[in-house]
Amino acid sequence: MFQGYYLPQSVKEALDILANHKGQASIIGGGTDIVLDIQEGKKKCAAFIDVSQIPELQAIEEVDGYLRLGAAVTHAQANRSALVQKTAPILAEACSKVGSLQIRNIATLVGNVVNGQPAADAAVALAALGAKALIEDGKGQREAMVEELYADVGKSLIDPTKEIVTALLVPVQKKGQGSAFIRLDQRKALALPMLNVAVVVQLDEKGECFEWVRIIMAPVGPGPVRSLKGEGLLAGAATSREAIFQAANAAVTEANPRSSALRGSREYRLDVLPILVKRALEVAVTRAKKTDGREG
Ligand SMILES: Cc1cc2nc3c(=O)[nH]c(=O)nc-3n(C[C@H](O)[C@H](O)[C@H](O)COP(=O)(O)OP(=O)(O)OC[C@H]3O[C@@H](n4cnc5c(N)ncnc54)[C@H](O)[C@@H]3O)c2cc1C
Repeated sequence: MFQGYYLPQSVKEALDILANHKGQASIIGGGTDIVLDIQEGKKKCAAFIDVSQIPELQAIEEVDGYLRLGAAVTHAQANRSALVQKTAPILAEACSKVGSLQIRNIATLVGNVVNGQPAADAAVALAALGAKALIEDGKGQREAMVEELYADVGKSLIDPTKEIVTALLVPVQKKGQGSAFIRLDQRKALALPMLNVAVVVQLDEKGECFEWVRIIMAPVGPGPVRSLKGEGLLAGAATSREAIFQAANAAVTEANPRSSALRGSREYRLDVLPILVKRALEVAVTRAKKTDGREG
C-alpha cells in the first residue's frame, strides 16, 4: 500500500526518512521514469521521497575546476545555464535533446543516470566528460565515475531506497579541448536515440596531436560504453583523418548493440557507429583548434 509522499528540506532529512522506511521508500526526482516504471509494475515502492525541493541540491556552480550540478538540476536548467554552455558545452547540448520541453522542465540529470538506460542523453555526455557522482547513504559520502554506475541495462549500482546522489562533478573544459555529441534518431519523437556518441579530445599546445581522448558510445552495452581501444590508438597520435578513421573502426569492435524493433537492428547500428564516432572526433578536433577550450 502506498504510504506517503515526502518533501524533505535537507539531504539529512531525506536520508533519515529513507532509513525509517527500511528499503520500502524510494528517492524521486522529476518522476518521469520512476512513475512509469511503477505504473508498469517494473518497480515497487511504498513511499516517495522527493528531493527536487531541497535547497542545497539546486545549485549549478564552478568549484575547484569542476562544474558542480546539484541533484535537483533539470535538463532545462542545465541547457539554459551560461556556465554549463561555457564549461561543458556537450552537456548543455545533450540536455536539449531529452524528450520534450515539459519533460526537460522537471526531469533531472541525476535521474537520467540512476535510471540506468545506456543511451540516456545526459548520461552519455556526462560519461564522455569524465563526470563523477557524489553519493551519500547516512554513513558517509563516496564518489563514482558515471560510467561505472551501471549494473545492466536499466539497472543502476545506486540503490535509491538506501542512498542519494547529491551532485554531479564535471571537469570544466580546458584550453586545447574540444567535444562533440551526436545523436542518431529515427524521427522527431520523444524517445531514446538509436545511437548516440559523445567524445572529448585534449590536443597538445600546437594543436597537432591528441594528448588524450574519451569516446563514449550507446546503446551498445549495459551502460554508456567507453572505447578504450579507440582512445589508446589516438593518445599521442597526430590529428590526421587516417588516425581518426582507424580509431573509429577500432571503437566498433568494443560495441555490442542489440537488435531493436523500434531503434534499428544490431547490423545497422554496427554499420553506422564508426561513421558517428569519426564525425564526432572530427567535430571535436575542429572545436579544440578553434576555441580556447570554452565556447562562447
Ligand atoms: C515522454 C518521455 C520522453 C523521454 N525522452 C527521453 C530522451 O529523449 N532522452 C533521455 O535520455 N531520456 C528520456 N526520457 C527519460 C527521462 O525523462 C530521463 O531519464 C530523466 O532524466 C529522468 O529524470 P527524473 O528526475 O524524472 O528521474 P525519476 O523518474 O525521478 O528517477 C529515475 C530514477 O533515478 C532515481 N533517482 C532520482 N534522483 C535521485 C537521487 N538524487 N539520488 C538517487 N536516486 C535518484 C529514482 O529513484 C529512479 O530510480 C523520456 C521520458 C519520457 C516520459
